[in-house]
Amino acid sequence: MQEKGTISVHSENIFPIIKKFLYSDHDVFLRELVANAVDATQKLKQLASLGEYDGEVSKLRIQITINEKLKTLTISDQGLGMTAEEIKEYINQVAFSGATAFVEKYKDKGQQQQLIGFFGLGFYSAFMVADRVDIITKSYQKDAESVHWTCDGSTAFELRKAVKKEVGTDIVLHLNADSEEFLQKHKIKEILNRYCKFLPVEIEFDGEVINNTQPIWIKSPSELKEEDYLKFYKELYPFSPDPLFWIHLNVDYPFNLTGVLYFPQVTQKLEHSSNKIQLYAKQVFITEEVKDIVPPFLMLLHGVIDSPDIPLNVSRSYLQADSNVKKINTYITKKVADKLDELFKKDRKSYEEKWPSIELFVKYGMLTEDKFYEKAKDFVLFKTVDSEYFTLSEYPERVKEKQTDSEQHTIILYANNVDKQDLYIQACKRRGFDVLLFDGQLDSHFLETLERKLDKVRFKSVDAEPVDKLIGKSEQQASLLDEKEQNKLQDIYKQAIRDATVVWSVVPMASDELPVVITVPEFVKRLHAMAQLQPNAG
Ligand code: ADP
Repeated sequence: MQEKGTISVHSENIFPIIKKFLYSDHDVFLRELVANAVDATQKLKQLASLGEYDGEVSKLRIQITINEKLKTLTISDQGLGMTAEEIKEYINQVAFSGATAFVEKYKDKGQQQQLIGFFGLGFYSAFMVADRVDIITKSYQKDAESVHWTCDGSTAFELRKAVKKEVGTDIVLHLNADSEEFLQKHKIKEILNRYCKFLPVEIEFDGEVINNTQPIWIKSPSELKEEDYLKFYKELYPFSPDPLFWIHLNVDYPFNLTGVLYFPQVTQKLEHSSNKIQLYAKQVFITEEVKDIVPPFLMLLHGVIDSPDIPLNVSRSYLQADSNVKKINTYITKKVADKLDELFKKDRKSYEEKWPSIELFVKYGMLTEDKFYEKAKDFVLFKTVDSEYFTLSEYPERVKEKQTDSEQHTIILYANNVDKQDLYIQACKRRGFDVLLFDGQLDSHFLETLERKLDKVRFKSVDAEPVDKLIGKSEQQASLLDEKEQNKLQDIYKQAIRDATVVWSVVPMASDELPVVITVPEFVKRLHAMAQLQPNAG
């Protein structure tokens, strides 16, 4: 058999276009080819299970080999293979039309960079790195002849008989001059490690199997022990401290999604964490860019999400509007809220111990997602300056007696810096008032939200007013100085304590134990806290 022909394609020559559009991430060619090899292997196993193939399928592997001399990279699978007819159908036509459609669809949109990596160009991505590609394949079908297809990146291909005894496919890439880096073992290892680490078929490279074919997220939670989750975490993020707890996601209706999300220990500011949630589609790594799929406050979590129902070949704005993506987002939020609720109810002490690490998630979530707020209001905690914890419903009850003003508002006193505000805190305590610690990154926003949502509760910083005035009931003590003396003292203090943004008010002789108290009005405090949250606050 010897045949020559022309690949059917609408554009003159698609390869320059593919190369141009895909330049940003050449590495994905390997993911695409290995993914095809996995598919071919799984299909053969399926055929065997249906009784349509009687060869041995229990040990099927994919092998990747480098030949430095010939400058080739070969991906070999023991999958179902292709007949000459199938090559003509699948390789010569289908893929090309897919690629053409892609280019046609997106050529005017200026979004190519973003799409790369989401849009698998499949087999033809091989031409990003190779100037000739051979397919040597033998179909599983009885008496199928093995065939050799070769194409040099023009639209012409050659198809001839080959000598291949075993069922399966070898894809041989003759690497182009710009792509010789793919002859380096460490480079290939790195790519395989990124994209292929959890593929379901064994992949052998450089004498070893590089992947875990049974990652825990595909298993049922009932088969798994605590150490399995911890071990998997280490597999994902080798140098990170153990996570606090985790959520196993497993749903198949109305969308298909599996995964494990871990709550990390907070050891540093989370936004600097390099551990990200990884998105997979059928165990193929896709991206760490999970924005829109996971609500922003949960992007601080770690772990894996695997869903074939997340459209990968479309632009971001489309993704946001996709109904599955919306449902997935809601589902994940609910799962996280349910887990926190369960932990809180099951073992409050251990929940309180974990609170410093989960506080940021919970507050961020409450600030940004109303649905989450509704659930989290039952398990968000207030911490007193003496490290006691209370819920949103417990705390106002606790302080109601002493800390209610004339308008029947419960006044919640808070400090945001226990060292600097110690004198104020002590003054409060002496009067039997309770002080909360609100010193977190999001706390100034958080207390405003709570004031808005909770009836009859007002927050006041311990230094907003002289302590006897904070609750608004007792009158300020009369000063021992006359007005003139007071003004003079005010002037002296105002000169001494200059702050560019804060208006300081000096209240002389305001309290019993301190001759002078410096206060910062609550609204100034909040303005100041807000300003500090701005990215370029001085
Ligand atoms: P896609 O995988 O998105 O369908 P590809 O261009 O990657 O597009 O591949 C086109 C078709 O070629 C596949 O659907 C499959 O039928 C066939 N094919 C590709 N690689 C292999 C392989 N290693 N073994 C068997 N068939 C393959």
